[in-house]
Amino acid sequence: MKFQAIKGVRDILPPDSALWNRVEQAAREVFETYGYGEIRLPIFEPTELFARSIGAETDVVSKEMYTFEDRSRSAAELTQRCEEITQNPPSIRDASLFISYQRSVLALGENLKRAMASGQVPRTAENEQRLRKVLELLEAAESLGLKNLGEDVDAATFGGYLKGIAENFKSFQFGDSLTLRPEATASVVRAYIEHGLYNRPGNTKLYYMGPMFRRERPQKGRYRQFYQIGAELLGSSDHAALDAEVLEMLLAFFARVGLQGAILSINSIGDKNCRPAYVELLRAELTKVRDKLGPDSQRRIETNPLRVLDSKVPDEQAIIATLPRIADHLCAECKEHYAKLQDELALRDIAYQENWRLVRGLDYYMRTTFEITAPGLGSQDAVCGGGRYDGLVELLGGPATTKCIGFAIGTDRLVLSLQAQAASSLNASSGAVSSAIAGMSSVAASASAPAGVEVFLAWLGGATYHAAVVLARRLRGQGISVELPPVAMKFGKALNLASRLGARHAVIIGEDELASGQFTVKRLADGEQKKLSGSDLLAYLLSARKP
Ligand code: ATP
Ligand code: MG
Repeated sequence: MKFQAIKGVRDILPPDSALWNRVEQAAREVFETYGYGEIRLPIFEPTELFARSIGAETDVVSKEMYTFEDRSRSAAELTQRCEEITQNPPSIRDASLFISYQRSVLALGENLKRAMASGQVPRTAENEQRLRKVLELLEAAESLGLKNLGEDVDAATFGGYLKGIAENFKSFQFGDSLTLRPEATASVVRAYIEHGLYNRPGNTKLYYMGPMFRRERPQKGRYRQFYQIGAELLGSSDHAALDAEVLEMLLAFFARVGLQGAILSINSIGDKNCRPAYVELLRAELTKVRDKLGPDSQRRIETNPLRVLDSKVPDEQAIIATLPRIADHLCAECKEHYAKLQDELALRDIAYQENWRLVRGLDYYMRTTFEITAPGLGSQDAVCGGGRYDGLVELLGGPATTKCIGFAIGTDRLVLSLQAQAASSLNASSGAVSSAIAGMSSVAASASAPAGVEVFLAWLGGATYHAAVVLARRLRGQGISVELPPVAMKFGKALNLASRLGARHAVIIGEDELASGQFTVKRLADGEQKKLSGSDLLAYLLSARKP
């Protein structure tokens, strides 16, 4: 049997993982200069947290979440008991079988009640309702059975009652419903409220990075486990300067990793004062052209008309172009906020495009929304999405006055774009290669370069092994990467392997070297060879790493 990673998830191997690390490190460095600290969040949360915050009508919640029931061992036993009892329901004609069935159902009901009281199974209104229903049906079945008329009509009704009992047991929720996080903003807000971070002075500025999970159709730049780097600012002010500073930080990060050709698009989607009226208007207009829309957009007329603006279906584009635009329907406050944002961006020399069709897929956004696209990604070209979500903290039970803005960068797509960029400059005409690379920041330029061994440390036999082990530890202690073969090697073979591994230097320890305390070091690029003592060797290797 041969195992493979499941569909839509993938391994990130060296040397790619080195690029990932550099990207993540750059995010830490840039975000920290803007006063953000890292928050490490759980990978799973109660399903309800995402359903509430992201919105039940969104694609993410309605079809993309990995949800499971977290059953305790005793709950698993109860589940099994429910199945056993309901598998062979007695017939109305067999009173003694019914009595033992009845006894089992009642006993199970008691056990479930006890399990709910002790918290072994969730004590929810739905579960309590299910138990009540079971008892009602059992009583109804009993009274029918007692009459024992045995007529076909009664047998069918009796059977229906028992079926109802089975269904209530089946739909009983035996464990908490948990979901692998499809995004992290909901968790950040949950943590903000749970730990009372609003009591700390100043704004709360948090960044995170890690895997997210959505059950989407896998393709280039779209995975079922993908990674995000995100940041959130929570506090009491919704000043547009904050929005602009968040965008500045994002662009500073993209510049730090050397991403070229990124385009920032912005929009305002209004707030709870002006958006509802616009959504109704949009719905009315969409209803008029309903027949010309595809099935997804037709469905969204009812569930989420804003999302129709997001449609990429070619046939719908001409129709969408004629729809009313939210910019013409913003209330005075939202209009002012949007104008201020543009002033603040101009002040910071930030180039952007306005895109009136830019709505975000998650319900909690309001006012400022933005997206950044990058080259080399095909149709999955959004590397970052974000915006303002002032109402979310209140929705999740925190202080109503909290204002928030944040973003999430798709790390997979960012890395793909950086790799495409590095590949295209390597493919450029030979003269342009070095200048293209030189002009790029180190993160992007090394997108395709292997991490590389600095020293291949060969030993020729006997007592030299101990000296090699000691020297390797000493060099590694100074941060030099050393490959130490576990077996003795002949000189020629060692050099051959060192160059195949892409090592920068080979250091050879033979009996002579051991006696003289001088190590032979060979620079593999040009074959230059020296004999150096331990400290001179260290100094030589360290100076060789300088670019
Ligand atoms: P898209 O329109 O591409 O589906 P989205 O609106 O669902 O994106 P957000 O929820 O805003 O995306 O997430 C922010 C970023 O996370 C996206 O811009 C993208 O870079 C990345 N992302 C989202 N879903 C995936 C995925 N399944 N695989 C890889 N990256 C993803
Ligand atoms: Mg999506």
